[in-house]
Amino acid sequence: MKAKCIICGEPCRGHEENELYPFCSRRCQLIDLGRWLDGDYRIPGNSIDEDDPDRSDGSLM
Ligand SMILES: [Zn+2]
Repeated sequence: MKAKCIICGEPCRGHEENELYPFCSRRCQLIDLGRWLDGDYRIPGNSIDEDDPDRSDGSLM
């Protein structure tokens, strides 16, 4: 059973013999983790506008 690394697309071993699955290497695993931390995987439509810059100016009299 073949699998592909979800980061670089290179063929990698299946989860049965690859503890890093679905990544081919620890490097790709870290890249994926970094993307999460950077917010690249933020869910669309779920953003919160708490830091709206217009509001801090306009609401003051
Ligand atoms: Zn990879």
